[in-house]
Amino acid sequence: MTKTIFQKIIDREVPSKILFEDDKCIVIEDIAPKAPTHLLVIPKKPIKKLSEVKPDDKNLLGHLMIVISEITKQLNIEDAFNIIINNGEEAGQTVFHLHIHILAGKNFSEFFPG
Ligand code: AMP
Repeated sequence: MTKTIFQKIIDREVPSKILFEDDKCIVIEDIAPKAPTHLLVIPKKPIKKLSEVKPDDKNLLGHLMIVISEITKQLNIEDAFNIIINNGEEAGQTVFHLHIHILAGKNFSEFFPG
């Protein structure tokens, strides 16, 4: 099976600006940012999309949330950021390796009015 662009980044076959890495995930800068800060949190496990996660992935998914909490603090954006997961082509997913967008510096509240 051909590797996704994110698998190639994880395997260091394609360069990327990596802000954080541990044994379970990497955090990179999005190549086409949709906000002043636009990061992608990518698990190393090649799960295609959120709808394919299994109960065994519970700890991994929790870990990704902890990483988001920590990295947003490091970047001083912890008080104002959005996270997005596009699941499926019709929802805008273009890379079929699960990833969480972190967006900051732009107000998305018109899309998600409180
Ligand atoms: P999605 O549309 O949710 O699948 O998001 C895929 C994201 O990956 C988009 O925001 C792209 O800009 C981003 N992207 C694609 N190729 C790269 C790359 N080589 N390095 C960093 N981000 C990328």
